[in-house]
Amino acid sequence: MLVMMKTHATDEEIGAVCHKIEDMGFKAHPIPGIMRTAIGITGNQGPVEAAVLESLPGVAECVPVSKPYKLVGRELKEERTVIDLGDGVQVGGKELAVIAGPCAVESREQAFAIAAEVKAAGARLFRGGAYKARTSPYSFQGLEEEGLKILRDIRAEFGLKIVTEAIDQESLDLVEQYADVIQIGARNMQNYSLLKKAGRSRRPVLLKRGMSSTLDELLMSAEYILSEGNYNVILCERGVRTFADHTRNTLDLSVVPAVQRLSHLPIIVDPSHGTGRRDKVIPMSRAAIAVGADGLIIEVHNNPDKALSDGYQSIFPSDFKQLMDEIRQIAALLDRSL
Ligand code: PEP
Ligand code: MN
Repeated sequence: MLVMMKTHATDEEIGAVCHKIEDMGFKAHPIPGIMRTAIGITGNQGPVEAAVLESLPGVAECVPVSKPYKLVGRELKEERTVIDLGDGVQVGGKELAVIAGPCAVESREQAFAIAAEVKAAGARLFRGGAYKARTSPYSFQGLEEEGLKILRDIRAEFGLKIVTEAIDQESLDLVEQYADVIQIGARNMQNYSLLKKAGRSRRPVLLKRGMSSTLDELLMSAEYILSEGNYNVILCERGVRTFADHTRNTLDLSVVPAVQRLSHLPIIVDPSHGTGRRDKVIPMSRAAIAVGADGLIIEVHNNPDKALSDGYQSIFPSDFKQLMDEIRQIAALLDRSL
């Protein structure tokens, strides 16, 4: 159920409706819109008594929600969510958000060298895993807190916003302290206790689509985060498993307009994991921007042959510069900027 407030409803009236919802034993989620505020209700097992709420001052109407996700859907909020990371960096706004950096933070020298290159090419956000969820237990697992400290120092040195993955509850506590955006990886998209914990964080969350997840499952996972009160979720398409063997995964770009039809949340694309091959990253980045994605997350490495993870899909800094130049032109056609 959604409570739609009248256009000129006051803050007191909105507050009173939220109180009433909480008194009924449910959770209220007031979401301001350009025209009016909508209040989502969660925590109810069955239908909510609409008449009680409709009689309150400032309420226009109560509308049932037709989708299983209540807070991520466009029924609650027609206009797109723009996530503000400070210093003019936004995700979901007119300017595209490009996150670039190595798969993993390997050393201070490696991470700083790549940060300098991606910054010079125009990236405003830096990626790099300090905790790596690897398929093999014998592969490099990340520098952990030491890696987070390197990322923090990169933010101080270059002014880049930091995006890095939390792989479990323990690392989430630390990632939250050091990063600007908490990444939840494909392998954890349905780790519901981790999603709930991220929902209690004050940091925006980058939620990657599971490699065999449907769009509905992705949106339900995002709903876990919003239902705990964190409305700043960025969705990310990173490819799904198919029978295709010319790429590591199949990048499902049609999910971008499908998400935009159903949800107000921003969506970005990861063509690095989505293809797994360096030569496919630039063409699929162009396509992702053309299809309407709000940004990209790209693996860049200055010495990919020696990378401790995902070297074969990491592009060189010079490729990244070319990618930025190309997508800037496509963005302009779509009335977006870089
Ligand atoms: C990553 O971004 O390095 C990563 C591990 O991605 P995914 O969770 O999509 O596999
Ligand atoms: Mn990777």
